[in-house]
Amino acid sequence: MTNRPAPVIDDDSRPFWQGTARQQLRLPYCRACAAAFFYPRALCPRCHGDDLEWRNASGRGTVYSYTVSRRPAGPAFQAITPYVVALVDLEEGPRLLTNVLVDRPDQVHIGQSVTVVYQPLGDGETVLPLFQPEAAPER
Ligand SMILES: [Zn+2]
Repeated sequence: MTNRPAPVIDDDSRPFWQGTARQQLRLPYCRACAAAFFYPRALCPRCHGDDLEWRNASGRGTVYSYTVSRRPAGPAFQAITPYVVALVDLEEGPRLLTNVLVDRPDQVHIGQSVTVVYQPLGDGETVLPLFQPEAAPER
């Protein structure tokens, strides 16, 4: 559990947060483009179509880029500093701004395979989709 600030949830993003609360990473999907997108919005960012649905994502992705925050963004981040802020490319295409959870920041690298983990907020409702390095294959 974390006491980070909670996201502002609106009608467009509510299905996303309802999904994470059930440990499902869901993405808006445009039937006309046959593609997922993120962030959630009323119209597809590619074709402006409104024939949208929500689909479950695999929860797997790749680190596109990252930075290490060595100063907390606020008091709620003090205990986890330093922490990794990353752009993760999901298998379905969209790029997510998130955190990669590691013991030491040098355990993250560009191109790394990561999987989603769900971290409840202290508000008892919101669950954040964060990421961790994919387990190394067994030898
Ligand atoms: Zn579209």
